[in-house]
Amino acid sequence: MAEPQSQDGLTRNQNLVLMALTEARSPLSAYTILDRLRGDGFRAPLQVYRALDKLIEIGIVHRLESMNSFVACSHAQCESHGQTAFTICQNCGEVTELADDELDSHLKAMAARSGFDVRHSTIELRGFCRDCATG
Ligand SMILES: [Zn+2]
Ligand SMILES: [Zn+2]
Repeated sequence: MAEPQSQDGLTRNQNLVLMALTEARSPLSAYTILDRLRGDGFRAPLQVYRALDKLIEIGIVHRLESMNSFVACSHAQCESHGQTAFTICQNCGEVTELADDELDSHLKAMAARSGFDVRHSTIELRGFCRDCATG
């Protein structure tokens, strides 16, 4: 089994950002990441953004546009599929990553019909989690 908190081929800064997100288990803004890593020599948001760019490119971190924050991928195989969906609870803020091969192929087919070669998308489903919907 691969060690989830450390990845080969990443710089020290990329690994630190990845570990901060993995430990948080919930989305963090770039500034929250910066605050957590000040003790590790991080000084400027740009250092965090550079690391995030690479981690997102590799597919082990996802950006949540609607929350302006970042979350560690919860599926080891995510780099093999470009489409990712998240549920975001508007009440408690719980964020869950969903993987669905059918969604992946459906979106690709839908885009292909208009001649578009889709590579990545992040779908953000907003609503209420099970606890909040029934509570
Ligand atoms: Zn993922
Ligand atoms: Zn909730």
